[in-house]
Amino acid sequence: MSLQFHSVPVTPFQQNCTLLWCEDSKRAAVVDPGGDIDKILAAVEERGLKLEKILLTHGHLDHVGGTAALSKQLQLPVEGPHQDDNFWIEQLPVQAQMFGFPAVEVFTPNRWLEQGDTVSVGDEELEVHHCPGHTPGHVVFFHRQSKLALVGDVLFAGSIGRTDFPQGDHDTLIRSIKKRLWPLGDEVRFVPGHGPMSTFGQERQTNPFVADKRFG
Ligand SMILES: [Zn+2]
Ligand SMILES: [Zn+2]
Repeated sequence: MSLQFHSVPVTPFQQNCTLLWCEDSKRAAVVDPGGDIDKILAAVEERGLKLEKILLTHGHLDHVGGTAALSKQLQLPVEGPHQDDNFWIEQLPVQAQMFGFPAVEVFTPNRWLEQGDTVSVGDEELEVHHCPGHTPGHVVFFHRQSKLALVGDVLFAGSIGRTDFPQGDHDTLIRSIKKRLWPLGDEVRFVPGHGPMSTFGQERQTNPFVADKRFG
């Protein structure tokens, strides 16, 4: 398989910042650099990768807090999330204060993403799926050949994202999971924003929030 990945837990929230790279070219993207940039760059160096961009699933601090600094330091373009999360990005300084994080800078992504877009990592391509509910502009990245999804805070092993934030909505989140994620296939493995990996098939069987038996 030509697309490789490695997750690095960052910030006090242990957010899964994930390196994605094309094995042929060693060109890489960092998905959701929430903070702890040194830790991320060490993982990049260890593998001999060349970072070419930053991809973002949504605008929450623990996922994007390191974006401005990292993109400045290495001149990296930022792709994602969907524009509906711009209000979260604009509020980053407030989020940082609220959670006792070091001060973070606001940034403007070079590219907002939409349902049906694709993003490249080296010679590989990932599909973009817009999955609102946890935040209105949340996107999921899907590599069809290796059946790997990076789902941010949409879905976790045994749980789903919180919906009690501004513009969060529980029914919308459930619909995103059922209409946008399940059709990608039961065998799809996913890296969630926090905690261990799982598969869509496993969650359809046992996740108390979205298991098929809940919906009959
Ligand atoms: Zn979040
Ligand atoms: Zn999170």
